[in-house]
Amino acid sequence: MAARTLNNVDLETLVSLSKRRGFIFQSSEIYGGLGSVWDYGPVGVELKRNVKDLWWKAMVRDRDDIVGIDGAILMHPDVWVASGHVESFTDPLVECGNCNHRYREDKLEDDSCPNCGEKAFGPARQFNLMFETHAGAVQTEENVVYLRPETAQAMFVNFDNVQTTTRKKIPFGIAQQGKSFRNEITPGNFFFRTREFEQMEMEFFCEPGTDDDWFRFWIDFSLNWYKGLGLRADKVRERSLGNDERPHYAKASTDVEFMFPWGWDELETISNRTDHDLNAHAAKSGKKLEYFDQEKNEHYVPYVVEPAMGADRSSLAFLADAYDEEGEGKEQRVVLRFHPDVAPFQVAVLPLSRNEKLVPKAREVYDIVRPLFNTQYDDAQSIGRRYRRQDEIGTPLCVTVDFETVESDDAVTIRNRDSMEQVRVPVSGLVAAISDQVAQMRKDAVG
Ligand code: ATP
Repeated sequence: MAARTLNNVDLETLVSLSKRRGFIFQSSEIYGGLGSVWDYGPVGVELKRNVKDLWWKAMVRDRDDIVGIDGAILMHPDVWVASGHVESFTDPLVECGNCNHRYREDKLEDDSCPNCGEKAFGPARQFNLMFETHAGAVQTEENVVYLRPETAQAMFVNFDNVQTTTRKKIPFGIAQQGKSFRNEITPGNFFFRTREFEQMEMEFFCEPGTDDDWFRFWIDFSLNWYKGLGLRADKVRERSLGNDERPHYAKASTDVEFMFPWGWDELETISNRTDHDLNAHAAKSGKKLEYFDQEKNEHYVPYVVEPAMGADRSSLAFLADAYDEEGEGKEQRVVLRFHPDVAPFQVAVLPLSRNEKLVPKAREVYDIVRPLFNTQYDDAQSIGRRYRRQDEIGTPLCVTVDFETVESDDAVTIRNRDSMEQVRVPVSGLVAAISDQVAQMRKDAVG
């Protein structure tokens, strides 16, 4: 993996870099912000899009046993009754009798208030995390709908639709990415726990009895996915959840954790959801949700193993892991050592200055590179500042057009983000040279 000088970045540094370079902004900032809601800026949106596309490719496009869907955020309210969310998707809420701050009881270190230090918590009450609204013009009990707190349920209620239209044989999976909403009591740690976020989930339907093996398979798949995209191996681990930590529907759950700036914390949960969800929806809806095994000539309700990952949390992990600082004095720089496929931009094309001879040539080079690599064109400020800016957003390669390019050799300079080495290559060989360097950086990113 790309060697780092810095082992761990602190959160304030990451927050300020994110704002300065356009990764993440506070939502509605000019109005003072909205608690625990964030907007991705022009650089951050590319990072998150890469994370989502890489997951989709690994999960759906590269496999013939998984298909995708894109379900709606709003669903029939009975879905959430059947799934158990109306009854038990709750966190224990406690309020400090002295300063009235509210906390999630299970996230408190002891019985004193983190805000005022008093030991004055009242009794815990169960607080449902689902956001409620109403469908239609009249606000009555009957037309309550929920913003989905997870994407998984659309995969369960569409099990039959997907199976009959694709003719998939078990084992097979259904994957989905999309927004989920939870009215978290104590959100925080930048965009680690937010009230609106995006999930990437896959429900893998398998024969009962094979579920334990698939559970292990999907844990390994996730660990390898993260490490294969450059997360340092010693910063990713699995942790099996005890009986009291597991969601209500799970026979077994394992978290994939990452060493965030504040310590180990959850990136993803892989759960063995058994036949809980299909049975619950069949009972509530009155529609059978079964699989017919033609070879055995028997019907059964499949078991489900689910990897449930957050697109935002993963993006935060990639960002924190990439952050590095090196050098001293004038030579000091901040550099994000992203895997080249995760990096928001792979290439930046930079004319040495805004000189009228250089700009058209640089635009020509930009047009050659852009269809093949996510590329930024940048001609503002001095070349040194532009290199620094590209280092700070983690762009693997900068291509510089100078006077020699237009006056003598029709060649450009490629500067490597990690080694800062510069090589001169003819424009005619530029795409091949970039491809070689990107391929090498892919290899270097994996330890
Ligand atoms: P936590 O205990 O951290 O609140 P959870 O265990 O309730 O999360 P799951 O229900 O297992 O989370 O959700 C699966 C994944 O979705 C999580 O691992 C995480 O990546 C993401 N996720 C869940 N809640 C949030 C949130 N509030 N903000 C951002 N991502 C979230």
